[in-house]
Amino acid sequence: PDAPPRYKRILLKVSGEAGVGGDKFGIDPKTVSAVAEEVAQAVREGVQVCLVVGGGNIFRGAALAETGMERASADYMGMLATVMNALALQAALEKIGIYTRVQSAIPMQAICEPYVRRRALRHLEKGRVVIFAAGLGAPFFTTDSSAALRAAEMGCDALFKGTSVDGVYTADPKKDPSAQRYETLDYQEVLAKDLRVMDASAISLMRDNHIPIVVFSIRERGNFVKALRGEGVFTTIA
Ligand code: UDP
Repeated sequence: PDAPPRYKRILLKVSGEAGVGGDKFGIDPKTVSAVAEEVAQAVREGVQVCLVVGGGNIFRGAALAETGMERASADYMGMLATVMNALALQAALEKIGIYTRVQSAIPMQAICEPYVRRRALRHLEKGRVVIFAAGLGAPFFTTDSSAALRAAEMGCDALFKGTSVDGVYTADPKKDPSAQRYETLDYQEVLAKDLRVMDASAISLMRDNHIPIVVFSIRERGNFVKALRGEGVFTTIA
């Protein structure tokens, strides 16, 4: 029999690309349903799941600002992109029978709930997936930071970062074939070596709150539940 999941409540962070976009601009339906299936498996195992999705498949503030747009406005566009991605994941999850709520850091009553911490906790207790959208609702941040903050606020046992690579490497394994994967790292090493797993502010928030970060590939089927059981390939930062 399979080992039980090691965690009771976790937050899964996926970038816009890994979560909904695939390798192209906008939404890739195959990527959305594959990620929804990974989340559904975890929920069926009894794990309480918080979800944060980025917006890089549509707009990234820094890139838009390079075109001459004011940075804060560009960042608000990025945050709106994360709301669209959240709705895409919500629809895909509900299609396969998983109850969800989207909570946005920027209130949009007609579309989703506003972020209310205690209400989010209640949803989790009832087995609903809570998708946190619009980042922190503030420009000059990223969804890595909002993932870390929500993980701390929700009392998560771990922050799972689902990427297209199966862990953290000494160098970019897509460019350098001699790159080696780390089994474990400590927060300080990630910061000192500037390994760019997540933003430095996100990593230091996890360090200060003793929440481990698990970096794994969400591209392979069944990998999320495997990682939740402590099986398969991933890098743990603790
Ligand atoms: N963003 C922001 N504040 C936040 C979260 C996100 O301003 O709290 C904006 C920022 O412009 C960012 C964009 O939303 O570039 C999309 O988020 P992110 O870059 O984190 O997406 P990912 O790279 O994970 O797809």
